Amino acid sequence: MNQPIPYGRQHITDEDIAAVADVLRGPFLTQGPHIGAFETAFADYIGCRYAVAVANGTAALHLCCMALGVTTGTRVITTPITFSASANCVRYCGGEVYFADIDPETALLAIDSVRELLSKHPKGYFSGIVPVDFAGYPVDMAAFRELADEHGLWLLEDSCHSPGGAFTDTNGTMHRCGDGSLAELAIFSFHPVKHIAAGEGGMITTNDEALYKHLLRLRTHGITNKPGELTEPYAGEPERGGWYMELQELGYNYRLTDMQAALGNSQLQRVDAMFSRRQEIAKRYDDAFANSAISIIVPPEGISHAYHLYVIQVDDRKGLYDFLRTRNIMAQVHYIPVHLMPYYRQFGWKPGDFPNAERYYARCLSLPMFPTLTDAEQEYVIASVKEFVGA
Ligand SMILES: *Cc1c(COP(=O)(O)O)cnc(C)c1O
Repeated sequence: MNQPIPYGRQHITDEDIAAVADVLRGPFLTQGPHIGAFETAFADYIGCRYAVAVANGTAALHLCCMALGVTTGTRVITTPITFSASANCVRYCGGEVYFADIDPETALLAIDSVRELLSKHPKGYFSGIVPVDFAGYPVDMAAFRELADEHGLWLLEDSCHSPGGAFTDTNGTMHRCGDGSLAELAIFSFHPVKHIAAGEGGMITTNDEALYKHLLRLRTHGITNKPGELTEPYAGEPERGGWYMELQELGYNYRLTDMQAALGNSQLQRVDAMFSRRQEIAKRYDDAFANSAISIIVPPEGISHAYHLYVIQVDDRKGLYDFLRTRNIMAQVHYIPVHLMPYYRQFGWKPGDFPNAERYYARCLSLPMFPTLTDAEQEYVIASVKEFVGA
């Protein structure tokens, strides 16, 4: 293969380009009609009541932590196997990040490890959990809901990897990731390697009207002009006119532009086809690596894995990574455990704290997984991996 094969890549069609060009010719570059249209279509797709478009997934996490009341000293639990933004959002608000280990069967935050951490502290010590649908494997949010309710915690689902993913609860009910039925809030990213590309972009989903209204204000500086939300006029205040608005709390400019929303919304129209293509690619990898020295995670019946990533685990991961680069295959590592990042080590986290996460990191490698990966490219990737491993 002459062209490098990345682990993830966006797919932009002529329709996508036309949608963005239309915005450029129109009157609104930023808060135009595409924002609301994208929010409505996305909420529809996910199956939740409300969606709030924001500048990126990290901004979405930050605003969620603000809306959930994270402040100095608030303690929040997340997984070490995630992109660091899942933890950083707590720090932006002055909160303290705690980690628990992963389940080696799924590479997701292990509920037993969270339960054990909770049991070591009095009730009220922790405020919330940020579970992550890592690689696209949906967290059993029903189990986390039950645990959270026992301990009075909120749940913020990082669904950046899992739009369209779903799990089946013990009653047989399917829940789409971020559908608002279990976690208070969920977030998505529209970075080009994710399922839907908007350049940069993010979305918050919820079924909670109060959180929704608060998030709308927070993404635009903390300003509102909605009649029902305004304070009473003070004595002697000049009469309020059409210009009137209030800065009610300290928010941010975390808005999405209309150009990005148009691109995201155009991509969303093809999301089902792109989702199925990811499933097909995963199935082909699954079949190729079954009964070999290559470890894979295959979800059981009832789990609809969204396959943002396709991760294999091998003993000589560094050797395989280097070998694949010589073949122009840009496999990647997801993730270096967050608790081992120098920034988090200063808080006392250290090697050995989470053995399952650390063992996973030592062996994991993400192979190319994106809807436009061709069958020939995938065959080449599979053959190269097998050649190195000797399978
Ligand atoms: C991509 C990603 C984010 C951050 O999203 P951005 O849009 O890049 O800010 C957060 N969490 C996870 C798990 C991600 O993969």
